[in-house]
Amino acid sequence: MKNSAGNALPHVLIIGCGFAGLFAVKALAKAPVRITVVDRTNHHLFQPLLYQIATAGLSTPGVAAPIRNILADQNNVTVLYGEVQRIDSARRMVTLDGEQALDYDYLVVATGASSSYFGNERWAAYAPSLKTLQDAYDIRRRVLLAFERAEREEDAAQRATWLSFVVIGAGATGVELAGAFAEIARHTLQGEFRRFDPANARVVLIEGGDRVLPGFPAALSERARQQLERLGVAVWLGRRVSDIDADGVQMGSDRIAARTVIWAAGVAASPLGAALGVPLDRAGRVLVEEDLSVSGYPEIMVVGDLAAMPWHQPAVPGTAPAAKQMGTQVAKNISRKLKGQATQKFRYRDYGMLATIGRNAAVAVFGKLQVSGYPAWLLWLLAHIVFLIGFRNRIVVMIDWAWSYWTFERHARIVADPATDDARHRPQP
Ligand SMILES: Cc1cc2nc3c(=O)[nH]c(=O)nc-3n(C[C@H](O)[C@H](O)[C@H](O)COP(=O)(O)OP(=O)(O)OC[C@H]3O[C@@H](n4cnc5c(N)ncnc54)[C@H](O)[C@@H]3O)c2cc1C
Repeated sequence: MKNSAGNALPHVLIIGCGFAGLFAVKALAKAPVRITVVDRTNHHLFQPLLYQIATAGLSTPGVAAPIRNILADQNNVTVLYGEVQRIDSARRMVTLDGEQALDYDYLVVATGASSSYFGNERWAAYAPSLKTLQDAYDIRRRVLLAFERAEREEDAAQRATWLSFVVIGAGATGVELAGAFAEIARHTLQGEFRRFDPANARVVLIEGGDRVLPGFPAALSERARQQLERLGVAVWLGRRVSDIDADGVQMGSDRIAARTVIWAAGVAASPLGAALGVPLDRAGRVLVEEDLSVSGYPEIMVVGDLAAMPWHQPAVPGTAPAAKQMGTQVAKNISRKLKGQATQKFRYRDYGMLATIGRNAAVAVFGKLQVSGYPAWLLWLLAHIVFLIGFRNRIVVMIDWAWSYWTFERHARIVADPATDDARHRPQP
């Protein structure tokens, strides 16, 4: 691709097409650059609704869309499917799938974060976490098949372990999952089993800190806890998990016998940050300059969950709006550099926070305004419809939600993976 003078346009390489990467690409639509976007999945994923895949409320096309399709009309973009493992910042090259070299004039690294088990990686086999579509399918399968196993179980004590669901970590994802599990048990599955009442299933949410949703004001955390308990979730605060195995969760001398345990407690930066060979914070995130570039490499920018900016007060949260704003800012800075202008500092604009707990139950904070219950839940619904990527996704999600609201049904309950036998249900490490 060349400019009107016949010179090759500068090449912007963007690794990762999550929120930060996608917003960087879109904001460069009119810039005189050729863009390559690389992602190791073929889809952009709307992670805030991923828990709805894990809890059978939505099916995949509602929360994910092919990157190639989203960017089809943007002619200055080429989309490549593959995983970047190495970055050679001195030679301005990255390696794709261990074999293909790609050069760049500007590099945007937007590979996000993954789950952290705080050094207890062994627990991952017993307590999956939620980050990708594959994780969501795995959790959905475990939860739905636990009820199936309970129906087959003759022994009451054993049946109780199949009907016990533990979520570890009471941030937004943990709260959403626990609330949805309680709703599945108390509403969705009512009348479908003969040997037990699903409403007797036990859902426990374990949190090491002294309140749920620690990022929210304390009063809203308390409202969220009350709403969870109203749904039937037992909230255990101030409990540190010391071990997880195939039969349950240990917290010091306390134990919960449960066959289904979900980990929603920790986040680790994408390992690609370390590949840059620049300073990282304790969580492995790249310490960026005020314009989101990397120290010593003004042509490399790091955005989204992978960026750490201790200079920014108050701290920038690891959320979708922050990632989008960073993506847009680096696109502006690239355009400014091309015009010979100085780059601009990144300032995060906080438009508020929302977390849902279940049907008619949520909390929201916008500046000084704090809302909970039904009005917060309505706001949560509206915000997610508005911010979903793509018109079709919005329609699909609205129809599914309207149907679930009136019927209590969760239509995405089909488990079709042939490898869903008992051995797969509780994989050994
Ligand atoms: C379950 C869950 C629920 C959440 N709920 C909310 C919420 O309600 N509200 C909110 O604001 N935020 C929420 N978040 C956080 C929000 O999703 C993240 O802050 C946001 O996605 C960060 O954007 P990002 O672009 O940095 O990373 P991501 O969106 O994670 O995108 C990273 C992209 O990089 C790709 N990638 C990674 N490594 C490589 C590689 N080596 N090579 C090529 N491609 C690669 C990935 O496939 C992915 O497409 C939630 C997160 C999760 C996991």
